[in-house]
Amino acid sequence: MVTVENLTFRYGGSGFRLNVPQFALAENERVAIVGPSGSGKTTLLNLIAGILTPEAGRIVVAGTDVAGLPDVQRRRFRASTIGFVFQDFALLDYLSARQNILYPYRITPALTLDAAARDRAEALAASCGIGDKLDRHPTALSQGEQQRVAICRALVTQPKLILSDEATGNLDPDSKARILDLLFAQAAEAGAAVLAVTHDHELLPRFERVLDFAQFRESEDA
Ligand code: ADP
Ligand code: MG
Repeated sequence: MVTVENLTFRYGGSGFRLNVPQFALAENERVAIVGPSGSGKTTLLNLIAGILTPEAGRIVVAGTDVAGLPDVQRRRFRASTIGFVFQDFALLDYLSARQNILYPYRITPALTLDAAARDRAEALAASCGIGDKLDRHPTALSQGEQQRVAICRALVTQPKLILSDEATGNLDPDSKARILDLLFAQAAEAGAAVLAVTHDHELLPRFERVLDFAQFRESEDA
C-alpha cells in the first residue's frame, strides 16, 4: 500500500532533516510508529499523504507516485484514497460536526455525497459516542469529542490507507481501546492499511509491527 525509498526531507531554514532509506506498508497491514517528540513522525505522515513534498526519494501509495502528481490531482488522490487523522484534528469551526465529517465529499469530485455516505457518517459518530453532537460546531465540543469527529471524517470515505497521528491522545483509556477497535474494524471492512503514530504503549500489541522512529533521525549538524 505504501513504499518509501531513499526519502529525504528538510524544512526550509530548519536544522531538521528526515532520512528514511526504506519503508513499506503492505495492504491490510497495521503498523504503529513510535519515537521521541520532534523525530519527524508527523512529517513522514505528511509526506506519505502528499501534503509535503520530499527533497529526494520515492513515495508510492496504492501504485501512485504521490510526489509526481500536480497539486489538484494530489489533493483529490489524498481525499479519495487516504483517511488522515491529524494530530491537531484540523476541524473547520464554521462547519458543524456532521459537515466536518462529510467534508471530504465537498472537496473531491470523485466522491459522491449520497445517502449511504450520510448513513455511514451517522453510524460512525454513534459508535464513537458523539451521535447526539453532530449539529454542534467544534468550538462547542471537548478535545476528546473533536478528536472523534476527526476520526469519523478520516473513516467515512472508506479509504484504503488510514494515517493516524496520535488519534487517541486526548481520550481516556476506555475510549482509546474503543476507538482503536473502531479504526481496525473499519480498516478490516474496507481492506485498508493502518499507519498510526502513538504514544500509548499499551496499544502497541494490537499492531502487527512497530516502527521506532528514532532510527530515521539524522543528527542536527549532519
Ligand atoms: P514529531 O511528529 O515526531 O513530534 P514533527 O514531524 O512534527 O515531529 O517535527 C520534526 C521536526 O521538524 C521538529 O524539529 C520540528 O520542530 C520541525 N518542524 C515541524 N514542522 C515544521 C515546519 N513547518 N517548519 C520548520 N520546522 C518544522
Ligand atoms: Mg507529531
